[in-house]
Amino acid sequence: TRILGIEGTAWCASAALHDTATDETYIESEAYEPESGGIHPREAAEHMREAIPDVVGTVREHAGDDIDAVAFSRGPGLGPCLRIVATAARALSLRLDVPLVGVNHMVAHLEIGRHTSGFDSPVCLNASGANAHLLGYRNGRYRVLGETMDTGVGNAIDKFTRHLGWSHPGGPKVEECARAGEYVDLPYVVKGMDFSFSGIMSAAKHAVDDGVPVEDVCFSLQENVFAMLAEVSERALSLTGADELVLGGGVGQNTRLRSMLAEMCEARGADFHAPEPRFLRDNAGMIAVLGARMYEAGDTIAVAESAVDPDFRPDEVEVTWDAGGDV
Ligand code: ATP
Repeated sequence: TRILGIEGTAWCASAALHDTATDETYIESEAYEPESGGIHPREAAEHMREAIPDVVGTVREHAGDDIDAVAFSRGPGLGPCLRIVATAARALSLRLDVPLVGVNHMVAHLEIGRHTSGFDSPVCLNASGANAHLLGYRNGRYRVLGETMDTGVGNAIDKFTRHLGWSHPGGPKVEECARAGEYVDLPYVVKGMDFSFSGIMSAAKHAVDDGVPVEDVCFSLQENVFAMLAEVSERALSLTGADELVLGGGVGQNTRLRSMLAEMCEARGADFHAPEPRFLRDNAGMIAVLGARMYEAGDTIAVAESAVDPDFRPDEVEVTWDAGGDV
């Protein structure tokens, strides 16, 4: 099966071809980089309008005419961006006369890790820009085992760096700056299976304003935020009895987060897998990979029913493909 995937939920305009026979995934992406501040929905949509035809064109040149279906991100994401991606996907599916597959972006962040790890029934930590949650498959759906009570984890970090006047995205800059830091006290909020990032984000801004060295604040922000994610991940493993953890999302590119999760898994005898960075940040490869599974399961949609959903939750998706065993 050869699936052309299109992604464009927020900042990354991306197209990919996944071929199930070779397990090769060819990805072409163009990032939107805000000149100042964070992601502006209108500017992001303008970026999609310009960049989606480019990346799709390049992938089509690579793919030739041998394409079985077109898969696209239906949500969650920014409405104006989603609508442009969906329009491109519908046009392409009609033009090539192949079915359309509507993919949930968060389930794709999870399934790519299951695909690259070969794990059967993992718990998944999605640590992305606009989201943060633990998912596990049970009875036909991915269940949300724990999630953020306020902002996404990457967005919290980006809001802190915006306060410092650093350019978007802030995550890699905090990682770099944290190398020279020492621990100072910052809030740590885990309630049951959920975590909160807005308090620590405000406290980090105040600490810098009060003269605490920025490298110490970056170090401590990472330690606390990632420990919250690791604590709830461990609790999710313990609760479900699962012994496999996969990581997804752009914040998953952070080496400190990965080493904390790997250490936690090792201590409890669980296997840990983080996909390579090109599959962690937003990318159409993960849309094409899940799109292929859905297509093979007959899970396609008519153009008339392919409306986007900016608030599409992962537990709304009825899983039609083989998602392994229950956690
Ligand atoms: P979602 O998938 O929830 O829609 P998103 O579209 O914003 O989120 P991702 O590509 O998954 O995107 O993640 C982007 C986020 O990853 C940004 O907030 C960015 O700061 C963060 N990020 C990127 N690299 C790192 C890093 N090395 N350390 C921490 N955070 C990082």
